[in-house]
Amino acid sequence: MTTTDTKITLSESDIPTHFYNIAPDLPTPLEPPLHPGTKQPIGPEDLAPIFPMELIKQEVSQEPFIEIPDEVRDIYRLYRPSPLYRARALEEALDTPAHIYYKSEHVSPVGSHKLNTALMQAWANKQEGVKRLATETGAGQWGSALACACQLMGLECMVYMVRISYDQKPYRKVMMKTYGADVVASPSNLTNAGRAILEKHPDSPGSLGLAISEAVEDAAGRDDTKYSLGSVLNHVLLHQTIIGQEAKKQMEIAGEYPDVLIGCHGGGSNFGGIALPFVRDKIKDGKTDLRVIAVEPGACATLTQGKREYDFGDVAATTPLLMMHTLGHEFIPPPVHAGGLRYHGSAPIVSHLLNEGLIEAEAYFQGETFKSAIEFARCEGTIPAPETSHAVHSAMVHARKAKEEGKPTVILFNLSGHGHFDLASYQAYLDGTMDLNA
Ligand SMILES: *Cc1c(COP(=O)(O)O)cnc(C)c1O
Repeated sequence: MTTTDTKITLSESDIPTHFYNIAPDLPTPLEPPLHPGTKQPIGPEDLAPIFPMELIKQEVSQEPFIEIPDEVRDIYRLYRPSPLYRARALEEALDTPAHIYYKSEHVSPVGSHKLNTALMQAWANKQEGVKRLATETGAGQWGSALACACQLMGLECMVYMVRISYDQKPYRKVMMKTYGADVVASPSNLTNAGRAILEKHPDSPGSLGLAISEAVEDAAGRDDTKYSLGSVLNHVLLHQTIIGQEAKKQMEIAGEYPDVLIGCHGGGSNFGGIALPFVRDKIKDGKTDLRVIAVEPGACATLTQGKREYDFGDVAATTPLLMMHTLGHEFIPPPVHAGGLRYHGSAPIVSHLLNEGLIEAEAYFQGETFKSAIEFARCEGTIPAPETSHAVHSAMVHARKAKEEGKPTVILFNLSGHGHFDLASYQAYLDGTMDLNA
């Protein structure tokens, strides 16, 4: 029996009690990260200067379920479980036999899924006596999430924000400061990495790679500080699996199971978050017909056009080498509006699943994704983040295909965030100044 509800909500007691770890369920083991110097698998001691031991353990864990601490679950109550919507107005506008569902992670206080991992990371650091976290932020979404999480957990937060965003996105900066974080433009004169650039290029606009170098140097140089990363790594995807676990319960209440599951892909965390609990069904419960699709920008088509090989996570080539689909660590993506999808690499877990044929990937250009995002907003009310517009567009592509084929396909996608801080990109589209083919 399918329900007639538009919005399927769960109670706070339905907040998942465990994170789901896909590593032990994979048909073949994940490839280990390698030391950038020796090219040998890295050990916990290599990561200990910048990450707390609990997160290092999670990174390599073979336990299928990892308990969520009560203090973290208590704070999740502020915004979880997030609702699952049936996009009835959109279905009607598309005149499709498809049933379209979306999981709304934009309801978090910071407007995206990123707070899910920020809270767990802040908690793990606090347990080990860390007083302060350092991180980088490009567009400002990750910095806002970590600033909020640090404040709620009682830690200090230091954010190195790429100079050009610092100047162009003043409200993200205000948001982080409202949560009590220190925010500096990167390159800054607080680190050797920043000073070296400033000496040569006083007007440098900065880059994400450089901001990472500054935040890591900050963390490695102080006993009270560790570093925090908002995507890509196994433990980050692990924390995001609460999205997919809730969505499975909600789909059960809806009386349906998805035929097509979709998430946008930058570093892989929101996609992995909704997808991994369903990929488990494919591996263990015979749900072999389920299609799971990661959607990326045509301008930074890591999964559809990248090579799968060991590569650095940062432009400066200092991080451990990760086995992933990559466009090369020196690849500088065009300045598309979906800042969160402009990453040269991919999550090792997502890359592994693609290689195993358990998931698929699609790429679209921003002209089509914004067109779809506006159509979605006019039907459903919510204005998606530019990153999320890729998932919205793919869902609409598959809904149209369902109509052509006359198949009542069930589509579920992750609405990873809202676009209220990115209205300049909507303005560019509406004014006709956007490069549609980037
Ligand atoms: C950061 C961000 C992304 C991209 O990061 P992933 O790790 O791939 O999820 C997608 N959507 C939103 C709203 C974001 O803030």
